[in-house]
Amino acid sequence: MPNLRSYAVILAFLCVPSGWASTDTAYSKADVETAILLRDDAMSGTRAWNIVESLTTEVGPRLAGSEAEARARDWAVKNLTRYGFENVRVEAFMIEGWRRGAETAEVVSPFPQKLAITSLGNSVATPPNGVEAEVVLFESLAALRAAPDDSLKSKIAYVGHAMKRTQDGSSYGHFVRLRSAAAVEAGRRGAIATLIRSIGTDSHRMPHTGNMSYSTDVTPIPIAALSNPDADQLERMAQRGQSIRVKLTLTPSYTGVVQSGNVVAELPGSDLADELVVIGGHLDSWDLGTGAIDDGAGVAITMEVLRRIKEAGLKPRRTIRLVLWGAEEVGLLGGYAYADKYKDTLRNHVIGTESDFGAGRIWKITRNINEQAKAVADKIAELVEPLGIAPGSNSARSSGPDLSPMNAQGFPGFRFVQDGSDYFDLHHTPDDTLDKIDPAAMDQNVAAYLVFVWMAANSNVSDWGWPAEK
Ligand code: ZN
Ligand code: ZN
Repeated sequence: MPNLRSYAVILAFLCVPSGWASTDTAYSKADVETAILLRDDAMSGTRAWNIVESLTTEVGPRLAGSEAEARARDWAVKNLTRYGFENVRVEAFMIEGWRRGAETAEVVSPFPQKLAITSLGNSVATPPNGVEAEVVLFESLAALRAAPDDSLKSKIAYVGHAMKRTQDGSSYGHFVRLRSAAAVEAGRRGAIATLIRSIGTDSHRMPHTGNMSYSTDVTPIPIAALSNPDADQLERMAQRGQSIRVKLTLTPSYTGVVQSGNVVAELPGSDLADELVVIGGHLDSWDLGTGAIDDGAGVAITMEVLRRIKEAGLKPRRTIRLVLWGAEEVGLLGGYAYADKYKDTLRNHVIGTESDFGAGRIWKITRNINEQAKAVADKIAELVEPLGIAPGSNSARSSGPDLSPMNAQGFPGFRFVQDGSDYFDLHHTPDDTLDKIDPAAMDQNVAAYLVFVWMAANSNVSDWGWPAEK
């Protein structure tokens, strides 16, 4: 198997004489050969794990808008520059900051004991000494919504859910609505605080945080998530038919307008330099763990893809742009800032995808592309099939969370779907740490991304399916 050092020789041989098989071919034979070399070399071992080890050890948790997120940007600029990428820069934007405070909860009666909880991101605080009230339990967001107005006056609402693990994490999109909406729905009915069952699939006393939002027409009330075993405990107490009183203390605070930013780096293209193939992951994480799977893994996988292309001495036709997004966790703010900053040149983004579903192996491709791009996309699928990756539907206009503001404007979809069977065991908990990552699975991701990026950056296809301009 050729190593990276032999690339220059092999490629000099491959690239010069072969060229395009014919003018109507979507891709060249030489690019297929290069993609195979990149793929196979990555499968024999990459530095992706070393990169996520560096980020999670040297920076650690990196909450959006915090001093730690700024250190993560410094870490990224330092390393992207060291790798020899070009146009390395921070594209700053401002956000409303939020910081976690103290957080405790306990059952006061009838069975006094502590509960494992965590504030949801953006929650308001309780009074410094907390609130104590009777808990009213609901099994789902729908059940809470069915409760009459004012029915929760001076009560604490508890809302459960029935999320179960899936390979592709597809149930998250449905159940996460509880996290977003519970405080508003409970507040609208007069509650003074809200507890939810964590949006997660583990059975540990690890509450899951995550962002929530308020509505201007409802007074904000504090909200926290119980770990799954603590939610089970509360539900069992309720089955005994006695009134349950809980004391809840949360002291998060808003930190005003603070800076976040996307970090950008490029491998400039040769003859089609204005056209972009964009990949990346989000640099911010929640503050409880070190954000190894969410999303240090995506940052590391995509950094390593560019690093290997650069190290092999390869020059793509199109510019390969890496974006390490800021403030994803608090509302895709980096993605929106990017789509706004480049609003006049969005169509230069030919295709791209974000890695943001942990460090598990890729098992499927989804996309939403036109007929013209089908030949090259099908070739990508064929080239990654030996990695255990199957073709999926062509109806998923998603390229990952931070590219979704661009997808909404017509950016064609492409996504590698990772095995997320255990993703929601760890997601947004103190347990999101480096030891959960299998380096070999990251190598498989790097191999697949290399095939995608190299073929997309060099094919004859510039239009993957942006809708016709009005
Ligand atoms: Zn994420
Ligand atoms: Zn997340």
